[in-house]
Amino acid sequence: MKTEFRIQVDQALGKQDVRAHFRKAMDTLMTNRRNQFPDNAELQRLRDQAQVIRANALSKLPELLEQLEANLTQNGIHVHWAETTDEANDIVLKIMQKHNATWMIKGKSMVSEEMGLNHFLESKGIEALESDLGEFIIQLDGETPSHIIMPAIHKSKEQIAKLFNEKFPDIPYTEDVDTLTRTARDILREKFYNAPVGLSGVNFAVAETGTLCLVENEGNGRMSTTIPPVHIAVTGIEKVVEKFSDIPPLLSILPRSATGQPITTYFNMISSPRKQGEKDGPEEVHLVLLDNGRSRIYSDPELLATLRCIRCGACINHCPVYVRIGGHSYGTVYPGPIGTILEPQKSGLSVHGELVQASSLCGACGEVCPVRIPIPNIINRLRYEGVHQEESSVLDAGSKRKPMEAITWKAWSWAATHPSMYNLGSNLATQVRKLVPNHLGAWTSVRTAPAIADKTLHQQLKALGVDHE
Ligand code: SF4
Repeated sequence: MKTEFRIQVDQALGKQDVRAHFRKAMDTLMTNRRNQFPDNAELQRLRDQAQVIRANALSKLPELLEQLEANLTQNGIHVHWAETTDEANDIVLKIMQKHNATWMIKGKSMVSEEMGLNHFLESKGIEALESDLGEFIIQLDGETPSHIIMPAIHKSKEQIAKLFNEKFPDIPYTEDVDTLTRTARDILREKFYNAPVGLSGVNFAVAETGTLCLVENEGNGRMSTTIPPVHIAVTGIEKVVEKFSDIPPLLSILPRSATGQPITTYFNMISSPRKQGEKDGPEEVHLVLLDNGRSRIYSDPELLATLRCIRCGACINHCPVYVRIGGHSYGTVYPGPIGTILEPQKSGLSVHGELVQASSLCGACGEVCPVRIPIPNIINRLRYEGVHQEESSVLDAGSKRKPMEAITWKAWSWAATHPSMYNLGSNLATQVRKLVPNHLGAWTSVRTAPAIADKTLHQQLKALGVDHE
């Protein structure tokens, strides 16, 4: 029986127009990134630097989180810890209830997607309005993001024009991108001024100073964090960096890797609520620090590298699998290579373990990752964990184990390490090669079955006079 993931992949592969659209978009992003790094030596130096900064922060994560909490608290920011997404949602709800807020405006936040915050709040009678243009579009259409930095990348301008025309019939139909953008901007501008609460994500949290950094292009991040009287920031515990001087190198490589921009339009630093005499800023600021499986990932010396991620999306843009199946096929919050390694570790191999098989292991993701996460190695490790049952730090290790497959590989391993048995097997295979069927189920549905040679390798080498023992 086909799994949900396989069904979604088959459906996506059947949509030629969507595939062409993704191909074009990803080609543009890849070219933009390449143009931003004309000097390969500089790129490699920047990647080294970014890797060291993130690895250093993770090496002292517990201490840095304590330091971050102390400095944020001293600055007047309320810090909340959430082990699970349920806890994080409850924290947000309580803050909303404390202020009798019935709606909030949101800047872009993948952690809030991870929490399923919009649906949770909706179930409590609270509206969460997305203000990032891409998020605004997919929210109008009842969809989820298909990319971590370009959530509506799967939509064409014609589809967006149609959607706006359906949802805002008073506004004349247009396919002009500037006019569509202005329409969303006009609608949202008024909402910003009236929102009781604004919510955002965090790109980096600086332990040394207790500063929350937010990188964005549209200004909606700044609006949601400065205009409403209450600001709630949500982030994963891994986003902490040690020093303020760690930010410029990360900021130098993040947008160039992500969209191929030299720098983003806005860089926000949130250090405290509004101080006396200041003209703007929220009166109350909260930070929700979410674990959701990150501590478990942290406990494994190899898998820990997963937490270095700065969510640039470059691995996604360069992934030959993502470009063909699009983001929604993954059925996860984080798609592409980062989703492939993060989601099974967060939710367990029994839930998303299938994703680690959906990789050609071409290595492009690891080559472009600005913090040098060895994504292909982690995929291989998770494949291993899926079929082994030893004690493991990975959730649901061994859940993909198939007894017959395990016995077959054990027998193969035994034969391959016993030369006499191996020779006997090879000889036998050449004798019965004509009896081996050409169709080997699903495996040959997309491949040609390899023909078995009429002579073993030993026989062939012997015939050539090669000393092969
Ligand atoms: S894994 Fe690397 S390339 Fe992918 S989103 Fe994270 S930082 Fe970017």
